[in-house]
Amino acid sequence: MNKITLHDKTFIKYIDQTEIQQAVRRIAAQIEKEYANDIPLFIVVLNGAMFFAVDLMQQLNIPLEICSVKYASYVGTQSSGTVTELLGISRDIANRRVIVVEDIIDTGLTIKHIYQQLLEKKAKDVKIACLTVKKNVYKEKIPIDYTGFEVKDEFIVGYGLDYNELGRNFPCIYQLTAN
Ligand code: 5GP
Repeated sequence: MNKITLHDKTFIKYIDQTEIQQAVRRIAAQIEKEYANDIPLFIVVLNGAMFFAVDLMQQLNIPLEICSVKYASYVGTQSSGTVTELLGISRDIANRRVIVVEDIIDTGLTIKHIYQQLLEKKAKDVKIACLTVKKNVYKEKIPIDYTGFEVKDEFIVGYGLDYNELGRNFPCIYQLTAN
């Protein structure tokens, strides 16, 4: 499908399913190499990163552990400027090598919040795997270790990303059209 309508907005195809799966395999290969001698703990940021996280972890042929967190920072198609924690870090992560799995980094507010918490909880090291990064908006210093795509400053949906809870189920990524 090249065009989808969610609520009152129309979106056109931006990143194809094949390209997404290629990016996932590329990131998985990097992680597999770097974590050959450790058991990483994946922290999946719900709900948006769930599709990326499942595809990524299924590509990894190493022992790993998974836990999830949930935050809210967007209302509709705009950042609210604050991060609300809906589900916090429930695991003991002291001395663990952690990989945070995110769907999208925009202002970086959410990832900064998570990163600081993980350092306070004494993780051994923290890496970030993010499917999409809005490079021109992101101004934080925290390094994004594994990036799927650098995207424009446009609102996108699909492959886990939603517009007011719709659109997550599409296997491609779509971009908001002007009307
Ligand atoms: P940040 O805290 O980096 O500003 O924003 C991160 C969160 O905002 C993401 O996890 C996601 O929930 C939401 N977000 C930011 N940009 C977009 C976008 O283009 N599309 C969708 N669907 N969500 C976005």
